[in-house]
Amino acid sequence: MHKPLIGAHVSISGHLHLAVERALSIGATTMQIFTKSNRSWFDKPLDLEEVSVFKKAVKAADLRGIMVHSSYLINIGAKEESTEKNSVKSLTLELERAEALDIPFLVLHPGSHTGAGTESCLKKIAHNLDIVLKKASGNTMILIETMAGQGTNVGSTFEEIKQILELTKNNHLLGVCFDTCHIFSAGYDISTDDGYDEVFKQFDKIIGLKHLKAFHLNDSKTEFNSHKDRHEELGKGNIPMTFFKRLMNDQRFAVVPKVLETPTDPDMELYKRELKLLRSLID
Ligand code: FE
Ligand code: FE
Ligand code: ZN
Repeated sequence: MHKPLIGAHVSISGHLHLAVERALSIGATTMQIFTKSNRSWFDKPLDLEEVSVFKKAVKAADLRGIMVHSSYLINIGAKEESTEKNSVKSLTLELERAEALDIPFLVLHPGSHTGAGTESCLKKIAHNLDIVLKKASGNTMILIETMAGQGTNVGSTFEEIKQILELTKNNHLLGVCFDTCHIFSAGYDISTDDGYDEVFKQFDKIIGLKHLKAFHLNDSKTEFNSHKDRHEELGKGNIPMTFFKRLMNDQRFAVVPKVLETPTDPDMELYKRELKLLRSLID
């Protein structure tokens, strides 16, 4: 039997390859990282030495299904032209960095319309994804993250995500990242057994389960359908552990990487405990 791919978002502080050590220290088999500051548009290019040390460390650690989370500043659906331009440039750079590091997935918040309306925002996102993906020179996929629906963020319904996937011509390198906190906050009730079946049935019908390439495993501090994005430690929020138990045993997602983005401490003891807990849920 293959090892389940579970891990967490870990820091690259000090050096990129230190993320690999951090992932191993919590017993992870996959991880998510930023490859640059998550609050900056651009960064100096990665140097070759850095890239090769990172790749060697990943190989030695046998981490698979790694994902990069792109900068929080990026909004390729932005109403304002300068923001849109910077976002396209920044996302292109993020993709190049992930490709250079041989990382298979780049997670992206689809965007927000800031008053311009959902429809035009979705079109703009698809248009800009085409621009970015046209320059793709590797196998790294951009994964659209399911959103909680805060403010004017788009991508909190399966229909909106489907529209982005369909409007993008270059979509063979596009997939979806399912964030459990966001899904629950967006109004998809995964808290019951029937709800579990129904939500994934809907996902399959509207988007297609084959496009689901990664999970963010977070509990939700806020109640169902709150449209708020507040992550909580597994078991401490409003998503019951029965959900995570089913997910960990769902053979459809056996090889899909799953990472925690829950609040943790500097020593990541909380992550360690959560990963242990997740592993204990597997039958
Ligand atoms: Fe995210
Ligand atoms: Fe997330
Ligand atoms: Zn979130």
